[in-house]
Amino acid sequence: MTDLTGKAALVTGSVQGIGLEIARALAGAGAAIAVHGLADASQAEAPCEALRAAGAPEARFFDHDLSDPEGAGALVREAAAWRDIDILVNNAGIQHTASLADMPLATFQRILNINLTAAFVTMQAALPAMAERGYGRVINIASVHGLVASVQKAPYVASKFGLVGMSRVAALEYAAAGSRETGGVTVNCICPGWTETANIEPQIAARAAAHKGDRAAGIADLLSEKQPSRRTSDPAELGALALWLCHPIAHNLTGAAIPVDGGWTAQ
Ligand code: NAD
Repeated sequence: MTDLTGKAALVTGSVQGIGLEIARALAGAGAAIAVHGLADASQAEAPCEALRAAGAPEARFFDHDLSDPEGAGALVREAAAWRDIDILVNNAGIQHTASLADMPLATFQRILNINLTAAFVTMQAALPAMAERGYGRVINIASVHGLVASVQKAPYVASKFGLVGMSRVAALEYAAAGSRETGGVTVNCICPGWTETANIEPQIAARAAAHKGDRAAGIADLLSEKQPSRRTSDPAELGALALWLCHPIAHNLTGAAIPVDGGWTAQ
């Protein structure tokens, strides 16, 4: 059992989806949660309440748009002024599908800012204090698209490959911090395949449309192409993995990009 009593986690994009389920898993182990995402205070109330109910001694909402690196800087400064950040989960991310030829430059830059630059800014700010305390966890939510490519996803794939590479650099730079007893400082990526959240709804809708609006058939169609298990992941399954990474026993697991993809990248 991972005990995070007395620790605090900043989880970007945690008002919904994978971020909320990772935050819920950490809250269940007793961590205070800095909740974040594109929401106003009233929309953030329900996820904050859910995290308190799950066991977080505190769940406070921080509201910054990560498409601007200044927003990422302000987020991590404000969260660190609230609590020492022991666990940083860079989860906020967006997707837009179009061919390379049709992808607007502004969309490319927006995706890079949110999916990659924000993680650079938050890691740069949070890691030195983790090293001083001898314990820290950075968990970056990359994707199978940090390991393999698919058509129509140039900026997304670029951002996620970048996130995997940058996480390895950070893992090396902080590998010697702390000790087995304190838990050390680790930096890893989780690389999900298809996981049922709002993020993939447009792609499900497009496939469902080709099956006369049958959503289940649309999901089956998406899975059959790439994910050999033919099962989506539940976001809570990623929460369980993130929680395990936070245990001191995982002190030597660093610089990894862990696929949760039903065999997609094993092919
Ligand atoms: P989601 O759309 O449900 O959640 C995305 C989160 O990011 C939201 O909380 C949103 O508020 C936040 N966000 C988006 N734009 C933002 C901005 N400009 N500023 C601040 N916050 C912003 O999607 P999800 O599926 O939960 O995705 C979470 C992460 O998982 C993303 O990085 C995504 O790339 C990755 N991922 C998802 C899947 C999947 O199949 N769902 C697969 C692989 C990787």
